[in-house]
Amino acid sequence: MNYFKNLRFDQLRIAFYILLLAIFYQFTQFDIYEVTAYCSCKICINKLEFRDGKFASNENVYFGGAAARRGIPFGTRIKLLPLNPRDQSAVKNIFQGRTDFVIEDRGFLIRGNKIDIYIPKWLGGHKAAQKWGIRRMRILFNRS
Ligand SMILES: [Zn+2]
Repeated sequence: MNYFKNLRFDQLRIAFYILLLAIFYQFTQFDIYEVTAYCSCKICINKLEFRDGKFASNENVYFGGAAARRGIPFGTRIKLLPLNPRDQSAVKNIFQGRTDFVIEDRGFLIRGNKIDIYIPKWLGGHKAAQKWGIRRMRILFNRS
């Protein structure tokens, strides 16, 4: 009988399907987000009480901090995955190539799949934020 031989083949096939599912699952971990940038100016932060040099997490502002909706806890690490060359060069020129950020802040208008990257003055502040504009990008969440 070829029974065992067939069984082994079926097992291999199942293992292959599980592998495919695992790869597919990896892709579902990447979400498309609308990525914007902000600074500490009056236009970006309209309330004086929030222009205190601190993020909503109570950390002092720093390059590497970003704002997200309430559902994403402070300290969550994210990675930008710029796929098209224009986004890649924007990351290189405006963020000095930085793709790793930590969620430290909240914002009135930051709901849903939105990430707002903090840009300090030494990195260009408001002008740099405007230059960045709105970019749709894949974001990898480090859920460890
Ligand atoms: Zn600004």
